[in-house]
Amino acid sequence: MKVVYSPAHLGHDVSHETYLGQPIPAHEVAERAEIIRSALERDGRYTFQEPTDHGDAPITAVHHPGLVRFLAEAWPALEREHLDREYLVADTYPTFRMFEGMSPDLAAGQPEPTSIAGRVGWWGLDTSNPLVEGTYHAARAAVDVALTTVDLVLAGERAAYGLCRPPGHHAARSMAGGYCFFNNAAIAAEAIVRATGERVAILDVDYHHGNGSQQIFWRRGDVFYASIHADPARQYPFFLGYAHETGEGPGVGENLNLPQPAGLADERYLAAVDRALEAIVARPGSVIVVSLGFDTYGRDPIGDFALTTLFRSRGPRRGSGVPSAGALEM
Ligand SMILES: [Zn+2]
Repeated sequence: MKVVYSPAHLGHDVSHETYLGQPIPAHEVAERAEIIRSALERDGRYTFQEPTDHGDAPITAVHHPGLVRFLAEAWPALEREHLDREYLVADTYPTFRMFEGMSPDLAAGQPEPTSIAGRVGWWGLDTSNPLVEGTYHAARAAVDVALTTVDLVLAGERAAYGLCRPPGHHAARSMAGGYCFFNNAAIAAEAIVRATGERVAILDVDYHHGNGSQQIFWRRGDVFYASIHADPARQYPFFLGYAHETGEGPGVGENLNLPQPAGLADERYLAAVDRALEAIVARPGSVIVVSLGFDTYGRDPIGDFALTTLFRSRGPRRGSGVPSAGALEM
């Protein structure tokens, strides 16, 4: 299988994140992607290539141009304001409760703040998303990894793997968060729709719900989003990911959330995978984008599922004979 990888992710060299108000050692670190890269290299069945530059257009096809501008400007702005920080993260966010009882037009019409402390909250979801000097360059490279992986599949590869870091599925149209800056999988799905005119499915197997992917395609009838994840009642991102969220407008029925309990074991997990794949193969389209997060593993430090590696010996699951482009999530 072909693997697309860029060393640019090494510039997103975070060492700490903020969790419940305190700095803790970062979970989403460069070593994570390097371990995957070296394992695939040792395996010998994977050939590596670097991504090609795809420019801004595929990004602004799913993201607000202001988010792109903010991420490009954030670190220089921090330095300009002489804020000596190891990493940039907000402490004030525009929660919907701030506007309770007020006209929705008021919230929608507020201007983006001018200081970096305000801007990072304006475009952000949470404090676990440290931005450092190399973050923007790394996030742009991750998008190009995803899009180059799409190119390979559209050129005839049965499957290809994009080793995307930073990950993407928590990033919404106008919001970064949860270790994510640009939504690599959503950008890939949108690029496939535009290139082929076909419907596309996103299968999100990361431990967490991909709130960003759901938000971006919520009203879309041409991108089906299926996610198997920890119940948001107990786990990040807390406010989206319930089973009753099924899409609106042309997207009604095109969002499938399969929230799961703590301690989830292989058999029940694989039943959920089958359910998602059955929904995918029941729809037209020939490409699946897989948001391939591995924090479902029983020994992962941030998850509470009990999955083992034994399912690897079972062979392909039903419905998996469809070309796919993979992306790394967390
Ligand atoms: Zn995750």
